[in-house]
Amino acid sequence: MILNKQTMTDRFIGCDSDYNSADIVLLGAGFDGTTSYRPGARFGGKMIRAESYGLETYSPYLDRDLTDIKVFDSGELELPFGNTQGVLGLIRSAIKQILGDDKIPVMLGGEHLVTLSAVEACFAKYPDLRIIHFDAHTDLREEYLGEKLSHACVMRRCRELLGDNRIYSFGIRSGTREEFKWAEGKVSINKDLDDLGNFPVYMTVDTDVLDPSEFPATGTPEAGGWRFNYLRGMIKEFGESLNIVGADLVEYSPPYDTNGVCAATAGKVLRELLLSIRIGENK
Ligand code: MN
Ligand code: MN
Repeated sequence: MILNKQTMTDRFIGCDSDYNSADIVLLGAGFDGTTSYRPGARFGGKMIRAESYGLETYSPYLDRDLTDIKVFDSGELELPFGNTQGVLGLIRSAIKQILGDDKIPVMLGGEHLVTLSAVEACFAKYPDLRIIHFDAHTDLREEYLGEKLSHACVMRRCRELLGDNRIYSFGIRSGTREEFKWAEGKVSINKDLDDLGNFPVYMTVDTDVLDPSEFPATGTPEAGGWRFNYLRGMIKEFGESLNIVGADLVEYSPPYDTNGVCAATAGKVLRELLLSIRIGENK
């Protein structure tokens, strides 16, 4: 058993279900070993949980409450830092376990590379998997600083796995000319979503999709981003209309959160995400 049992105050607010009866399992993958600019995302999950007690469990936007749904918070995975392959393998195993028990994994990063492990596990169960990707960056590099396993390459690796026209990126405003050119016919960038019907969907939220004036605490801040309310609306729209089988929130980096506002914002994004996922349908 990789997943831990947390004490109450270590959990995200309102996520008090036990594992067996839970529909959603929250888990922390606090790895930031390939972060290129500003490290610290490894502390993201812990800080979001600690600061979540300043939030309400009720969402007035959705008229839903975390106490209405069954979420088990398994805390942070214990990861072998310095060993990227080992870290990714462990995250993949944990997500597989959750999927094997017919629950929906929602992962807290950590840097964006951790998404690759979750996508691999979801793809093994759902070969028709699609990805919804919110990010400032394309993350489509073939390699970065000589590394293929890097946060800057995570969507490129996901596309290798899933094939063409399976990834839909939104909020993108940074990348190399080569990345944008390469993406044509392979990865959808800032375009309308196709009708995904009941296809299984993994939703990944890189917090740097938000504007750095509102959310500076990320490894790679990028001007020109979204406001919280826009991201919230996108999560609601896609969460409610699509068959979400897994999701994550990554790249929140507490060392750059000088006044704690980003922890509160990230926690609110997480609450809206948890409450937007359709439970018990068509999985
Ligand atoms: Mn990213
Ligand atoms: Mn990014």
